Amino acid sequence: MFAKVFRASFSWSSRLIIRSVSPTRYCISSNRSFFVSMGSAMSNTTSTSTGTTAPSSAEVKFSEEELRKRLTPMQYHVTQEKGTERAFTGELTYNKNTGIYSCVVCGENLFKSDHKFDSGSGWPSFYEVMNSEAVQKHTDTSHGMKRVEVTCKKCGSHLGHVFDDGPNPTGQRYCINSASLKFDEKKKSEL
Ligand SMILES: [Zn+2]
Repeated sequence: MFAKVFRASFSWSSRLIIRSVSPTRYCISSNRSFFVSMGSAMSNTTSTSTGTTAPSSAEVKFSEEELRKRLTPMQYHVTQEKGTERAFTGELTYNKNTGIYSCVVCGENLFKSDHKFDSGSGWPSFYEVMNSEAVQKHTDTSHGMKRVEVTCKKCGSHLGHVFDDGPNPTGQRYCINSASLKFDEKKKSEL
């Protein structure tokens, strides 16, 4: 298991290093395999904050008690504590079915399968958001990196990060945790 993760992370890291030396391209903030593969002594895999993190501008709020009941520990950690699931472990990373990806916390529609692509990063990746009004972007300087965090505008849940190394036509790569998403299979005509 460890060896598998190590190889995958190393391969991915190498690929990104070849493409660019910019550290901002990494999707992750607290992924253990990343730090191991990079030879770092960093071992902090916990969140940078505790409790609910929904900003005051969020349209809907849920109590911590409710969310802990209806979300898995990973879903709670990622969405409410800005956590990151381990690369290549999310159940939606390789999902190629046609449908809509919504916020696991509030149900807001966020991404379409039409915009999903295989980035090789180990996380679900989209080159476009379904509705630009549905997400908010924030500067994230945690873990010594400057990245752009993506949150659900409606409930404030952490989704992942967006980078500018995506494919055409947008050049964007929304690197999103599976744990932040709920997938609803749809017919092509329903998208
Ligand atoms: Zn939401």
